[in-house]
Amino acid sequence: MEYFDAHNHLQLYTADAALDAAMAAAAAAGVTGMLCCGTSPDDWGRVLEISCRYPGVTPCFGLHPWFAGEDGWQGRLEEFLRRVPGACLGEIGLDAAKDRPGQLEDCAAQLELARAFNRPAVLHCVREWSEVLGQLKKARLPAFMLHGYGGSPEMVKDFAALGGYFSFGGAIADPGRERLRAALAAVPADRLLFETEAPDAGGPAGVTAVVDAAAAALGRPAEELAELSAANGGRFSKGSI
Ligand SMILES: [Zn+2]
Repeated sequence: MEYFDAHNHLQLYTADAALDAAMAAAAAAGVTGMLCCGTSPDDWGRVLEISCRYPGVTPCFGLHPWFAGEDGWQGRLEEFLRRVPGACLGEIGLDAAKDRPGQLEDCAAQLELARAFNRPAVLHCVREWSEVLGQLKKARLPAFMLHGYGGSPEMVKDFAALGGYFSFGGAIADPGRERLRAALAAVPADRLLFETEAPDAGGPAGVTAVVDAAAAALGRPAEELAELSAANGGRFSKGSI
């Protein structure tokens, strides 16, 4: 079986040996592709280095909403995007749980960059679904992904109509998350992705358990969901829907 981890932060492995071990475990589990997301200018270099070392890792460069409002990142971000033609924008977005002025402006500016460079974007969103939808409507991107989707089942069609992919993590197995599983069930098959947020979830190999949980929730074979999401991940990384 082939798996794709749609969202992780491999740069957070502090020791090379730990990263090597996590990547070896992922390869042994059949994880053939993944998106490694930067969060600020401080980690973009490391993300790039990791993507050069491990085939199958697509680098993403972006300013996370938790770091919004700082100066000087935009020129450096453009530099990374120019230097790495296969890179995506991310992790960008809006987070109502973090009081960081400048989130709206920084997210909009990065969506504009995604549009200008014709790159797919990886979005983080906490309780700002209408605002994110509004920004995405303006941005008209080739493709985007809502990582750790936590929006309503009803909004799935609105995002899907704009070219959205939806990524789910281990929370779909939580007994109390009925609405999250309803959202999972509402996602069109060709837009479905799974993620670990590694180093969480035991590393990128942990995506196999997420796929198993989705299979149980949807009543579909895990093999089918693994192949489907791996194909979706490959298409997303290339910026197509
Ligand atoms: Zn993340």
